[in-house]
Amino acid sequence: MPGAPILPGATLGVMGGGQLGRMFVHAAQALGYHTVVLDPQPDGPAAQASDRQLVCSYSDAQGLAEMARAAQAVTTEFENVPAQALTALSQISRVAPPAVAVAIAQDRAAEKVHFQHHGVPVAPFAVIDSAQSLSAAATAALFPGILKTARLGYDGKGQVTVDSPAQLAQAWQELGGVPCVLEKRLRLDYEISVILARGRDGAMVHLPVQRNVHRGGVLATTLVLPGSVHAAVQEQAILAAERIAVATEYVGVLCVEFFVLEDGRIVANEMAPRPHNSGHYSIDACDVSQFALQVRTLAGLPLVEPRQHSPAVMLNLLGDLWFRAGGDDEAVEPDWAGILDQPGVHLHLYGKRSARRGRKMGHITITARTAEAALKTASSVATHLGLPPDVALP
Ligand code: ADP
Ligand code: MG
Repeated sequence: MPGAPILPGATLGVMGGGQLGRMFVHAAQALGYHTVVLDPQPDGPAAQASDRQLVCSYSDAQGLAEMARAAQAVTTEFENVPAQALTALSQISRVAPPAVAVAIAQDRAAEKVHFQHHGVPVAPFAVIDSAQSLSAAATAALFPGILKTARLGYDGKGQVTVDSPAQLAQAWQELGGVPCVLEKRLRLDYEISVILARGRDGAMVHLPVQRNVHRGGVLATTLVLPGSVHAAVQEQAILAAERIAVATEYVGVLCVEFFVLEDGRIVANEMAPRPHNSGHYSIDACDVSQFALQVRTLAGLPLVEPRQHSPAVMLNLLGDLWFRAGGDDEAVEPDWAGILDQPGVHLHLYGKRSARRGRKMGHITITARTAEAALKTASSVATHLGLPPDVALP
């Protein structure tokens, strides 16, 4: 049952206090909602912006009860919030996305089975969770492969490339013998993601399909330019993402990452039950952002198809940029003033108190009238800051 919308003036809650929570809070407050953030760490990116913060663990019963009292509906910005915490919360409060979808997204093996079950192709894989499954996988045609921990991996962490059964056995041991997925390493033409929003009434809208460039397993650049994704590929990917959402009666914002193979076929890689790094450009380049969609789905407000009004390039800002001089001892703030003099440069910093290598500190979205102009500015920004220079229309 759709139920009545929760109107502005009410309080919306978010589990997790990172940059995604911060941008959710910004979008919620823009619509006139109050916010409460539950995060084990005080003063994180979301807490700095939020009306209120609860500092406690995700499974703290008192904290969850307080969240349910304070907020009329609760969402998550972090897929590793224990699904049990969301289940418990959903008994006393309105929660989106559903805990069942979050539980699937938390487990690579369950996720792949879910995709396959709904007719969405995945890379050839085997689950490694015992000595028997390890030796069975050794004979499967999965090399060269990537061994990935089934749970808690992100930004390429918990992944080892393996080229032989001997390397597989060693890698599994190094990963602590935890349940893993061995995936065949595919030859990718490029990578894309689909971000959709589904309402309580089943209505779905989506952002334009993003083209993503990863560096070292971490998203580096997102391009949303005319022609950056083949039309037939876009269509297939949107249909597949919609099937995945409908299958879990999803409510909220969902991102599905796909690989586009050299023969034009797509395979689903993974899903995130929340807004996604590849959708940050929508804040500056679309008339409705992925975070505004998250607020609308949570509050039960109507959804409208977002319109991209400007070609966009998004550059991720990792902590490495603060240590360009070499050593890890002294973080030096990059020269923001030196890039903000260019039109169409939108700088977003997440308020993290210290920079660390590999840590997502912020992003820059570049918008322009044409793809060429956006790429030109992006490349000049990248050069000025010292970002690796692979910004180009592939
Ligand atoms: P994470 O959860 O850390 O984002 P992913 O499974 O999405 O992990 O892997 C990160 C990146 O590594 C992908 O975006 C892609 O660039 C590369 N990658 C992962 N799996 C494969 C594969 N089977 N074949 C080729 N490249 C892969
Ligand atoms: Mg990924």
